[in-house]
Amino acid sequence: MLKVLKFGGSSMADAGQYAKVKSIVEYDDSRRVVVVSAAGKRFKDDHKLTDLLYLCHAHLKYGVSCDAVFGMISERYLEIKRDLGLRTDIDGELAYLRDRMRRGISEDELVSRGEYFSAKLMADYLGFDFVDATEWLFFRMDASVDKEKSYAALKKLAEGRRIVTPGFYGVMPDGAIKTFSRGGSDITGALAAAALDADVYENWTDVSGILMADPRIVDNPATIERITYTELRELSFIGAQVLHEQTIFPVREKNIPLNIRNTNDPSHPGTVILESFSTETAAQDDSRFITGIAGRKDYTIISMTKRGASSSVGVQRRVLEIFERHRIAVEYTPNGIDCLSMVIPSRQLGDTLYAILGEIQEQVAPDKLETTENIAIVAAVGRKMAFRPGISGRIFAALGEHGINIRMISQGPEEVNIIVGVNNDDYEKTVRVLYNSFVK
Ligand code: ASP
Repeated sequence: MLKVLKFGGSSMADAGQYAKVKSIVEYDDSRRVVVVSAAGKRFKDDHKLTDLLYLCHAHLKYGVSCDAVFGMISERYLEIKRDLGLRTDIDGELAYLRDRMRRGISEDELVSRGEYFSAKLMADYLGFDFVDATEWLFFRMDASVDKEKSYAALKKLAEGRRIVTPGFYGVMPDGAIKTFSRGGSDITGALAAAALDADVYENWTDVSGILMADPRIVDNPATIERITYTELRELSFIGAQVLHEQTIFPVREKNIPLNIRNTNDPSHPGTVILESFSTETAAQDDSRFITGIAGRKDYTIISMTKRGASSSVGVQRRVLEIFERHRIAVEYTPNGIDCLSMVIPSRQLGDTLYAILGEIQEQVAPDKLETTENIAIVAAVGRKMAFRPGISGRIFAALGEHGINIRMISQGPEEVNIIVGVNNDDYEKTVRVLYNSFVK
């Protein structure tokens, strides 16, 4: 059994958090590979180390002294070292970094040092070996990850060892350090789990998994215990902020379960994400049809009606091409007979709305062309809804009972979601009604 763990910034923020990480790692002998982020915030108005490093580079770029910012960075790591009584030569590392800065360091290299220092200190504290990401995470010249080479390298390095490796960066073919986009330590963790064919990828953060609904709207929403990648994609597409999408690919490819856990509440099982749950029992099946609810405000619906459109060829294509020419992604296209509608985030349309309407008029001469603004989209997502009659009926009945006017309905052929469009003003109420009808 092998578990790969990734600890986010809040889990690495100070000595107290390091102690929690240590007890989590030591609790289970199979937790042998640890990926870490740079130190995050200790309190609300605190700074993330990575932000300070970016700031430091901006100073260098404009030739302004970054001594003050560098002092803050150094102090964070020196303090962790002191508080934990570690031996890692942080002073030496900082002196080396200053020297690199004098010689003109790249932004990627400088900002990667947050993860580097974190990993050095954590390896020392856990008594694990430090393995630098530059030893195994290889980018190609086009900045994509060379998985084959990286996986092979990490396999060799991790063989029979307990290791800590920094997240967020790797190395280019010419030896230069390259980072992922912000939040990229999640990707490193997923790559490490995939490289080592881990039994599970534990992503430790400061929340106990993914919630069934936005806690700003629903009081104390339940945690999603299990979710498939397809459901997660549906939820994140529409608004739930979960993980960097790229994170998912390496573990999904190998069907490795991704378990989101809370460093501050380690006994909570969190959320497990997997391709499919073949072992789901009938009892579980009956519990909740809906896995999660998400949504977003501010959509525009453009609808056109043209008699005979459904039986004539090419009308939809001509209309959709207009959006394509304006580089606008149409998110949903709920249709009726002779009626076609396009649902688009309003901010995407911006000033092009009238141009688009004009072109539709010109190209297909519809009998009616309307726009409805200020629409919110709410999706109820759940793999257990598929092929189960009556769910959409219950959704509409619940919304109807609460006087919510449904402006649009859409359901994909996979039946993992039911999407409703309501007025922006009804958005929060819709989320609450769905949650209370199906979850409570
Ligand atoms: N430290 C990096 C950031 O703040 C990467 C990470 O934490 O995942 O974006």
